Amino acid sequence: MASRSLNGIAIRDQIYAELKDEIAALSSAGIRPGLAAVLVGENPASQIYVRSKIAACQQLGLGSWEIKPPASATTEELLQVVAELNAREDVDGILVQLPLPPQVDAKRVLEAVDPAKDVDGFHPASLGRLVSGRPVLVACTPAGCMEILKRSGIQIEGADAVVVGRSDIVGKPMALLLMHANATVTICHSKTRDLPGTVRSADIVIAAIGRAAMIEPSWVRPGATVIDVGINRITDAAEAQRIFANFPAKLAQFQEKGSVLVGDVHPAVAEVAGAMTPVPGGVGPLTIAMLMSNTVKAARLRRGPGVNAARREIGGAAAAIS
Ligand code: NAP
Repeated sequence: MASRSLNGIAIRDQIYAELKDEIAALSSAGIRPGLAAVLVGENPASQIYVRSKIAACQQLGLGSWEIKPPASATTEELLQVVAELNAREDVDGILVQLPLPPQVDAKRVLEAVDPAKDVDGFHPASLGRLVSGRPVLVACTPAGCMEILKRSGIQIEGADAVVVGRSDIVGKPMALLLMHANATVTICHSKTRDLPGTVRSADIVIAAIGRAAMIEPSWVRPGATVIDVGINRITDAAEAQRIFANFPAKLAQFQEKGSVLVGDVHPAVAEVAGAMTPVPGGVGPLTIAMLMSNTVKAARLRRGPGVNAARREIGGAAAAIS
């Protein structure tokens, strides 16, 4: 039996509708939340990501700015850009689009962002606050996965959750969020001894690996919830044939466009799982929605009506763990 498809687009729209009320309340206090995106160089994928983030700001009526230093930018030059954005009152969120060119010390640049404006949640101070369960702006993709689980009525408390992937931007914060929500969490990575067996023990599987269709149906316990964070573009015909042999619509899409997207989870897992996110249309829309949500929260907590000692208490950082 096919699993319930967890529709990220519908959940994103729900979150946008909620944000609109909050944005209107800020607006009546004369505050327009704003996001600045720093896009270094001409990386086509990064250009697409930044464009869709700016479009989301426009859709919601948020302020947005695109700062585009050249691909030759140095660490010092980017630190200067970040310092200027930190100092601007109208900028609530700063997003430094990764990857940065190889000559740039990306960690130094990310660490220069004021944690109160760290809407990506990548700053070590943000990660530290997340570890200790304090209010913070949470990394957007894992925060989006939590929204999918909660808004879809998936039981997290007491569940056995397996997170495959331990990156700083997805796997680690994801595991922490699930732990704070009272799941029992196992983190897997490339050195995990029995990956299929470990995944099979899970009520909730989070796949954040970056390997096309790696998690197979036999790895998944029947009825489990599967959140597929992966986004992989398949351009090889043989690989498309292997993955999508039983998915004629996807094969037709490949024939037509010369490429097709697949997650880190094999699409046939949908026959075993109880609920699963599609790719595209699952986690992706939530990542941008949570960026918008973090920008609004950052505005509210930094300069919203009634900002007071509570904000100073949390060192300028914003927003409860969500
Ligand atoms: P990453 O930094 O490359 O991390 C990948 C993780 O997967 C690492 O921890 C790695 O283990 C683990 N891994 C790799 N090969 C493995 C294997 N054979 N067996 C077990 N574990 C393995 O990737 P990321 O930034 O977390 O992103 C993961 C995926 O999510 C990518 O497909 C990316 O495109 C996607 N993504 C999507 C969104 C969205 O909005 N939907 C946002 C961000 C990322 P080691 O640590 O041992 O190397």
